[in-house]
Amino acid sequence: MAKDDELKERMSKLSDEELLNIVEVESHDYRKEALDYAKVELAARGIEFQEAQETSDEEVDSTGSEPTDMRMLVACKNIPQAGMLKELLIENGIACEVRGEYLSMALGQIPFTECYPEIWVAGDEDFERAREILDEWESQEPSPRNSWICQGCGQENEGQFGSCWNCGRVEPASDDQPQA
Ligand SMILES: [Zn+2]
Repeated sequence: MAKDDELKERMSKLSDEELLNIVEVESHDYRKEALDYAKVELAARGIEFQEAQETSDEEVDSTGSEPTDMRMLVACKNIPQAGMLKELLIENGIACEVRGEYLSMALGQIPFTECYPEIWVAGDEDFERAREILDEWESQEPSPRNSWICQGCGQENEGQFGSCWNCGRVEPASDDQPQA
């Protein structure tokens, strides 16, 4: 349970306001374990707090957001990645939200899977479309590339270079290989 201890310790380092925010305002962004530790920490500090209502089937959020059940699409590596994906989905007309990003920020770069920002999507139809978009996005994500041989001068170039450092010839697109 070393992870739990560390999560607990991290919570103990947050300010009173941050803890209150977690428990009272952003509770839906956190996992139960994290919330529990935040509550324990607040109680230990003698701070009174109003627990956010557990969302039940009857208790639909009154702010007018979609009551549709949301599903987690993916856990992202980091906040910028989550932000990018969210933008991408919204551009495609898919409503989504990022959860857990605040905790992830509060905890620094601790690589807990519990703390990774997650993308949540509402509705089965959107979820399926979001999956497709995600698959496509992942296949386009820059990955370490192989080195390539310049067709102009035969020089081998590192994968990250788009043109030959020796003669300046542009690397042929990988999916546009000559038939020969
Ligand atoms: Zn060259």
